[in-house]
Amino acid sequence: MQEVKKPKKPLIFYYGIVLLALLLFNFLAMPWLAQRRIQQVDYGTFIEMAENKDLGQVEVQQQENQILFTNKDNTAVYKTGMMTDPDLTQRLNDSGAEFSGEIIQQTDPLLSFLLTWVLPIVIFVAIGQYMSKKLIKNAGGPNAMMFGKSNAKVYVKSSEGIKFSDVAGEDEAKERLSEIVDYLHNPDKYREIGASMPKGILLVGPPGTGKTMLAKAVAGEANVPFFSMSGSEFVEMFVGMGASKVRDLFKQAKEKAPCIVFIDEIDAIGQKRDGRLSGNDEREQTLNQLLTEMDGFEENTGVIILAATNRPETLDPALTRPGRFDRRVPVELPDLKGREEILKVHARKIRLDGNVDFSKIARMASGASGAELANIINEAALRAVRGGRRTVSQSDLEESIEVVIAGYQKKNAILTDAEKKIVAYHEVGHALVAAKQNNSAPVQKITIVPRTSGALGYTMQVDEGNHYLMSEEELENKIATLTGGRAAEELVFHSASTGASNDIEQATKLARAMITRYGMSSEFGMVALETVNNQYLGGDSSLSCSAETQTEIDNQVVALVKRQHEKALKLLEENRQKLDEIAMYLYEKETITGEEFMEILNRQ
Ligand code: ADP
Repeated sequence: MQEVKKPKKPLIFYYGIVLLALLLFNFLAMPWLAQRRIQQVDYGTFIEMAENKDLGQVEVQQQENQILFTNKDNTAVYKTGMMTDPDLTQRLNDSGAEFSGEIIQQTDPLLSFLLTWVLPIVIFVAIGQYMSKKLIKNAGGPNAMMFGKSNAKVYVKSSEGIKFSDVAGEDEAKERLSEIVDYLHNPDKYREIGASMPKGILLVGPPGTGKTMLAKAVAGEANVPFFSMSGSEFVEMFVGMGASKVRDLFKQAKEKAPCIVFIDEIDAIGQKRDGRLSGNDEREQTLNQLLTEMDGFEENTGVIILAATNRPETLDPALTRPGRFDRRVPVELPDLKGREEILKVHARKIRLDGNVDFSKIARMASGASGAELANIINEAALRAVRGGRRTVSQSDLEESIEVVIAGYQKKNAILTDAEKKIVAYHEVGHALVAAKQNNSAPVQKITIVPRTSGALGYTMQVDEGNHYLMSEEELENKIATLTGGRAAEELVFHSASTGASNDIEQATKLARAMITRYGMSSEFGMVALETVNNQYLGGDSSLSCSAETQTEIDNQVVALVKRQHEKALKLLEENRQKLDEIAMYLYEKETITGEEFMEILNRQ
């Protein structure tokens, strides 16, 4: 979709600049320009002019040791040095010259008038004309003072707009939104039967899942104008400005109806008004205005408001009640099939090798959002260019997933031999524990090349298909796998290193969630002891139980992780020989594939 109008800075801004320029001009350039040119002449000329009575005004500047004088008509200014001339006063009296103290300040009256009055006005008018012409051209209409204008970006109908086919996956969301498209195409069908469209639709989901794209696609499919604005743009420094922007946005939208108004990050203005003295009057006023506007326009006017947020739980209930944003369309992270489709959509833009296996890439990138997948494709293309290749290969794509997950390879990180050995054992510890348990995702790759994210190595496990549910056993195995790295270090080197901090964090988180949220502890049973605050942004959680229970939870978490750690130790002890063998192989090769790993593991 083509962007046609983005209102520029208000005209007042340009007038301000012109005014400033004129002031500077007046103060700096004017005195210089206005000064009459002074000609240096010799003393003889001065005496001659005095005798011929050709002098107009004369100023004797004792301090500078010079005399300034003008001719009879006052049209030229001259300067000459002072001489010891006892007759000077007499001479001047005789010449009939006028004594003056301000020849220098004197300016040509006509020039002075032109410079101080006419020129500024001419410049002012000319620039004003030019700017407003430009604005009119850009905005498609006259546009004087723009205080409180909505600044919404407007896209109009365009044949090359984003369509639903550009948004891969997200079939459920597309299905729900296609009703809107149908309505915008054919409102009478709905009107006749008395059905009314929801005024507002809330797109909720984690960042980068294509919410903005979907909103644009609705406009593209329906072939209607699309106004887009971010919630934070409403909140201004001046109280009342946000409200006037909302008013203006809706006014513009109603003029252009049928159309779509898209408010991104609506939580910036739509947060719960909790009555606390937050001092953010502006946000509250803006929200009130939005609520009023939404009530104000009748149903079926053809203005559909789409809004996106990744913190739906923080929205004010008044905003989500029926009649306002009453329809909620979840836009979740893509599943395996969705990821594969998104990769294919973005891969259209780049030149690929014939043998690229998208399904494998999609499996490796589990948990990635649409934006991350787009980034992976781009990283791969950049890597191919860096390598001087003309097409993007499978290995470019696989490496770029690692770049997105773990950062670039650190070229100059030098591990000591002992460290490298520890890292090798650590990683093989993870891999071996994973491989020796049932229901663990197969190992795809093990590497001990340090990454810019700080990881000294990692083991990549890739699930075969989609994974929506996890059993208690799978979760326990995952914890055991996470502790496998440390277990291997303990077993081989009889000491612990700092390399396991991330594993410890993840294992603890999982164990805690099993007990407090998944009801997997025999003691507490199915009681929710923790609530997740914002599910789409990292999932912070807060405990909702008594202090005694908290202590008990902590005890159980420790016991659970300990059990799995012991299990991992036992598994590694039983396979000590394989552990040594694979760790040495990894130490030499630095990166090994899952197949190589399995081959050594299964070797007799
Ligand atoms: P959000 O608004 O949910 O944060 P965006 O719609 O801005 O995310 O998406 C950011 C980018 O990610 C898009 O420009 C697009 O390149 C890519 N993207 C995200 N989801 C998809 C998808 N389902 N299909 C294709 N591309 C996607």
